[in-house]
Amino acid sequence: MDSAKKRLKSLAASLGADLVGITSRDILADGPPSADPRYLLPSANSVISFALSLDRDITQDFISKKKWRPHCDNRKAIAQSLYTIGEALTERLRSEGYEAVTVDLNNNYRPEEAATDISEMTEFHPDFSHRYGALAAGIGRLGWSGNLLTRQYGALVELGSVLTSAALTPDSPIADEEHPCDRCKMCSLVCPVEMIQPKASTRVTVAGITETISRKRPNTCCWIGCTGYEGLATSQTWSNWSPYRLGITLPEEKKELDALCSRLQKTDPQMQDAVNSLDNYRQAVFDPDWFYYTVCGFCRSVCVPSREDRLANRKLIINSGTAALKLDGSHVVAGDNAVKVHTPFGLHVVVPREELSKGPEKTRKWAGQFPLDREVIEYLRQHFNSADTQSRVAD
Ligand code: SF4
Ligand code: SF4
Repeated sequence: MDSAKKRLKSLAASLGADLVGITSRDILADGPPSADPRYLLPSANSVISFALSLDRDITQDFISKKKWRPHCDNRKAIAQSLYTIGEALTERLRSEGYEAVTVDLNNNYRPEEAATDISEMTEFHPDFSHRYGALAAGIGRLGWSGNLLTRQYGALVELGSVLTSAALTPDSPIADEEHPCDRCKMCSLVCPVEMIQPKASTRVTVAGITETISRKRPNTCCWIGCTGYEGLATSQTWSNWSPYRLGITLPEEKKELDALCSRLQKTDPQMQDAVNSLDNYRQAVFDPDWFYYTVCGFCRSVCVPSREDRLANRKLIINSGTAALKLDGSHVVAGDNAVKVHTPFGLHVVVPREELSKGPEKTRKWAGQFPLDREVIEYLRQHFNSADTQSRVAD
């Protein structure tokens, strides 16, 4: 099957894949349940894993809070390319008589017994883990952050996977001597919600490799930080791109953290939106009006191949200030005049003070804007256009 492997790899590369590797069901057999491709395709024998790198300059602008939207747009373009590559590979394999499926890029989790919908989920085990597939296929190794690190781009990649019944010749995983993570721990230091513990570790085995990675706080902790329900670091001197603040210290206990995350999700307007990336990720990614709202991912963005650059990236992040929401939907760096305002969504929002006198608008088209921002802006326009603004800000 070496010629088939070559043809499939060149097809992926011709469509823009920066890295492509292949692994087999047997090699993945020692991994956690989400490493098993048979969950999505019972006849699966092989996995084609591919990666596209994020634009490094755009990512630098994102972490230093010079520019927000270009990184979001870059992620959306890459997600579209990953689906395009996956679907081309799937089509080719099917035309050759094999079964094949493209694994959704995100938001497809295995059912959890106690959860009636995604807002009650706490574990978020994917149908198939792109990271485990990529590790086994030789694309990269797991870093301390748990992210997939490549030798060429560090963690600045997005991953895709195709599962197939074809028995393709597998590639070898990256050897220990070439492991791209040097334990600099910058990923721990740039997580605003302290998800990635700097000292405590755990182990995960996939493809005959045992990775020692950070023992993270519960997954709902990242969900809170990455969705943007809380963006402020515990030092209170910097944030990710989220203008939202919980006004409390995140609970240590998993049960309380899970309950908080569920409560926040249930009031999140995103859950009620017709084009909802949580329901149909592919549809959202190809919707021209859908905005790939990204406020965090700092654990990944900090992690470039050179250690010196990672240390510099961490400085950029902790010196980048905190984020605020403007009523045109943009996120900006909060100035001295920023105020914190209560919202009906269990969160405070940081807004430049002068924004609070803008009042209702006639047009209500918010194409490309995140539902929570959209509803909060509407609320601010309705309720903060009067002289009593001063008395109603949280601090
Ligand atoms: S930031 Fe450093 S410790 Fe964290 S995954 Fe990257 S190389 Fe490893
Ligand atoms: S995405 Fe953000 S909140 Fe989640 S672990 Fe990474 S840095 Fe922390």
